[in-house]
Amino acid sequence: MSPGKRLSEYGCGRANQLPSGGHIENPFEMDIPLISSDTLIDHAAHCLDCDVPICHAVACPLHNRVPDLCESLRHGRWREACDLLHTTNNFPEITGRVCPAPCEASCRRDGDGSGIPIRQIEYQVAEYGFANDWIRPARIEVKSGKRVVVIGSGPAGLAAAQQLVRSGHEVIVFEKDDHVGGLLRYTIPYFKLGRTVLDRRLDQLREEGVTFITGIVAGEDISYRYLSRMCDAICVAIETGPPKDLPVPGRDLENVIFGTEYLRQANMIRSGERGGFDRAFCGRDKIIAVIGGGSVGQDCVALSRREGARRTYQLEIQPKPSDALRSEAFQTGADGGGQDDCIRRWCVQTKRLSGSGTRVSELHGVEVQWYNGQNGPAMRERASTEFSLNVDLVVLAIGIEPSSQSGLIEKLGLRLDPEGDLAPASPDGTGRVGLFATRNTATGASIVGRAIASGRTVAAEIDQYLAAQG
Ligand SMILES: Cc1cc2nc3c(=O)[nH]c(=O)nc-3n(C[C@H](O)[C@H](O)[C@H](O)COP(=O)(O)OP(=O)(O)OC[C@H]3O[C@@H](n4cnc5c(N)ncnc54)[C@H](O)[C@@H]3O)c2cc1C
Ligand code: SF4
Repeated sequence: MSPGKRLSEYGCGRANQLPSGGHIENPFEMDIPLISSDTLIDHAAHCLDCDVPICHAVACPLHNRVPDLCESLRHGRWREACDLLHTTNNFPEITGRVCPAPCEASCRRDGDGSGIPIRQIEYQVAEYGFANDWIRPARIEVKSGKRVVVIGSGPAGLAAAQQLVRSGHEVIVFEKDDHVGGLLRYTIPYFKLGRTVLDRRLDQLREEGVTFITGIVAGEDISYRYLSRMCDAICVAIETGPPKDLPVPGRDLENVIFGTEYLRQANMIRSGERGGFDRAFCGRDKIIAVIGGGSVGQDCVALSRREGARRTYQLEIQPKPSDALRSEAFQTGADGGGQDDCIRRWCVQTKRLSGSGTRVSELHGVEVQWYNGQNGPAMRERASTEFSLNVDLVVLAIGIEPSSQSGLIEKLGLRLDPEGDLAPASPDGTGRVGLFATRNTATGASIVGRAIASGRTVAAEIDQYLAAQG
């Protein structure tokens, strides 16, 4: 028996350690429901332990050791499973909640409908680890005497910071927002990832010695020249580029907003960082058109339903994906907030917006048809399919620009060379400092698992670099 705290609350452990059929509570508000530990173990026992486990080797960006995890769980070795998870992933309780789980789509069992619920396993094993106090701050006694500055505190920066502090380096994280966490805190909706989950992990990082300095915009409040004198290596982890805009007539009307800002405001109100809604951003009683059928659009639809929108449309220019085709959309197990009553239209293009006075009141679109053009898929408008919708709020969720275009790197006095590596923008900007960037920063928006993986990779490179400096 583990040094257990209220195992029944977490639904973990073998049935003989639990009140059978007992009510299983979730550790945090609005979390993904927990399933009984016996059911979870049964799922794990179905793992085929493939010779080449695609889930581990290819699909999971972190290369989580899924078959080994299932094997540990099959034998009820929860602590071993928890330790295994942490060998590849700094924050399994977070990916266990929000990852779109490409691993599951790659499972050989997925075809016959008995795929392993890998994300659920990850989530519950991590929660069990916290419940049993197995996930503790690592105490590193031998210090390297080197200092690393990490710019950006999203999952990539956090993973890099944790890896580096565990290698004995002093780590200072600069974050431009008032609180640490990047998109984990500000953009991924609170109903998918409770902020208490994030804060619990941040406590661990602080106890391990990571220093967070918030409200500092690197490149504006603090220059690269200054940074390069205060540390031995700099890690730039500022993935987020600006949201893509929709350059149609009427775009500048009031109540036409970006989805990321819509989600951010809701998260800030939820956490008490903002007192109340900017009326333009509040969906209550409004007719909302969310433009974009991807993950951010889905989150905006879910939020609008929670806010009490009168009606929500979701408009997507692409054809409806087949149900069988699972993409890296951020469909997680978390509560979607009653999205079902959203009116979705596929293969539609927004042509213009019009308003009464300065506010948007109508969206004008047309149906489109996709065909195989000479250079790949192409689109044409379908004759006589023009339509208009009465709207009070238009939410743009049509993608994120890569951060290399956002100007942040330039502001830092750096540039990306053709290989996507960071370099000082001018020769007099060079200092005796190692410059590194998370892969995300160079390549643009992705998923949390990939951000953590890129943070771990860059941390290993920095560690190697510092070791070579002597
Ligand atoms: C609406 C939305 C929903 C999403 N949902 C999911 C999901 O459900 N599952 C999933 O796996 N992924 C999801 N993603 C993607 C995921 O959030 C990102 O891939 C991930 O957060 C990237 O991590 P990062 O650390 O590279 O960057 P970020 O999380 O963007 O963190 C970068 C940090 O750098 C800071 N920063 C930027 N410039 C400076 C500066 N000059 N000085 C100091 N600090 C700076 C920023 O403030 C930010 O805190 C979602 C993304 C969006 C937009
Ligand atoms: S991080 Fe995502 S892809 Fe990797 S095992 Fe977990 S759910 Fe699967």
